[in-house]
Amino acid sequence: MPESDLRDVSLVAVTSHEMRAPLAAIRGFVDMLQRRRSELSDAEIDEFLNVISVQTQRLIRLADDLVTMESLQDASLAIEQGSIVLVPALEQIVRDLPGGERVEIRVSADAPPTIESDALRLGQILTNLVTNALKYSDQGSVVTLEVVPDGDGCIGIAVIDHGIGIDAQERDRVFEPFYRTTEGARSAEGSGLGLAIARRLAEALGGDITAYATPGGGATFRLRLPVRAAAR
Ligand code: ADP
Repeated sequence: MPESDLRDVSLVAVTSHEMRAPLAAIRGFVDMLQRRRSELSDAEIDEFLNVISVQTQRLIRLADDLVTMESLQDASLAIEQGSIVLVPALEQIVRDLPGGERVEIRVSADAPPTIESDALRLGQILTNLVTNALKYSDQGSVVTLEVVPDGDGCIGIAVIDHGIGIDAQERDRVFEPFYRTTEGARSAEGSGLGLAIARRLAEALGGDITAYATPGGGATFRLRLPVRAAAR
């Protein structure tokens, strides 16, 4: 079988597997609400509706990820370069995330205040990285977004957490579509698509992403981007 067919088969297999759990949960809780509503307390009803809402969100995210993945694979991804003022852009990205109050933004004094890039795509990349950092670390721990100049006309934006970390031999594999570490799969829900998308988006912007260990424990993902957009 050609490699692209294999990839499609695994995409369908993994996607349907990923959809089964949230769909089963939604189905089960809707069923329960329909059949036993009169016996349930208001608190129980709220709890069930909350599960339905969370699981629906999970399906929407999966659908969004698959659409993004597809457009990255067939090179139809639109990139719109513009001037981005970094600090307010980063603050906005973090503010919109659940748990965003755990994120501390640190900008080195010699980092350029603006870059030329695609604000929407930068937002998608950092949303994926920061969501992971929050998801795979303790609720009481701080996640740091650190902006530093990175030589050769580039800027580095690191997302640093103190969570479960990633073994050295898996640090490159986590960028493969659907790859999840055992520890990651044990500790939180996920599709294994976020980092694959983030890396491809970074490449589409002329940059890249690398994973490291955080000194003292945890994971650090460093996004490197050109400060000035390359001519396209
Ligand atoms: P998802 O989080 O949906 O599973 P990702 O593609 O974003 O998918 O990440 C792939 C895997 O990499 C995760 O399942 C997890 O095992 C690991 N991972 C990603 N980010 C982190 C992190 N900050 N700390 C520890 N493990 C991580």
